[in-house]
Amino acid sequence: MSQALFSSLPLPPALLTNLKTIGYQEMTAIQQQSLPLALDGKDLIAKAKTGSGKTAAFSIPMLTKIRQRFFGCQALVLCPTRELATQVANEIRKLARYQQNIKVVTLCGGQPIGPQIGSLAHGAHIVVGTPGRIQDHLRKRTLSLEKVSTLVLDEADRMLDMGFIDAIENIIDHTPDYRQTLLFSATYPKGIRQLSDRFQNEPEEVTVESVH
Ligand code: ADP
Ligand code: MG
Repeated sequence: MSQALFSSLPLPPALLTNLKTIGYQEMTAIQQQSLPLALDGKDLIAKAKTGSGKTAAFSIPMLTKIRQRFFGCQALVLCPTRELATQVANEIRKLARYQQNIKVVTLCGGQPIGPQIGSLAHGAHIVVGTPGRIQDHLRKRTLSLEKVSTLVLDEADRMLDMGFIDAIENIIDHTPDYRQTLLFSATYPKGIRQLSDRFQNEPEEVTVESVH
């Protein structure tokens, strides 16, 4: 099915080449549904199981919007745990290999804050982290979200289960209103709908039941 190939999308040629290099030719089901909408700048609520390729579904549109020469955080990905944030950051680095010098910084608790402050001072294009530590940096003013154009809530249902709702709301209040907000979740409880109502702009909903 030709629509299922990444090459059917309006992506920069260097990104398409990189996707091929890392062995991504066909989109997974959630990528097929999400990417055309997200690349068109739409807000998304995407519901799909673990292992369905959600990271690339939000990272590819995010990467096409990053301006390398612009100093400062342009994309923020919130994750529930340090392990997930680390995985997401590594996947973004793999997808971003075609773009010279895109800096991805991971900000999570349980790690010394000093080196994080140092990395931010050198300029981070993309920040991936857990809500508590992101808030710490906002309080210290070592992170500014004023130029964020893409906000991703990954595993949003788990973040709500872990009691991060107030932190998430506070963080979003530091981002511009005109951002694109991509919300990914394995389940779709009431709290997610409320979060979406509050922070998304006419979101498109996509759901994939099976993994592929
Ligand atoms: P999820 O966040 O939905 O749990 P991930 O984004 O972590 O899933 O992706 C699961 C695995 O599938 C990762 O190892 C990733 O590199 C791989 N993957 C994602 N999309 C593709 C694709 N289109 N082609 C090949 N492998 C892919
Ligand atoms: Mg994931």
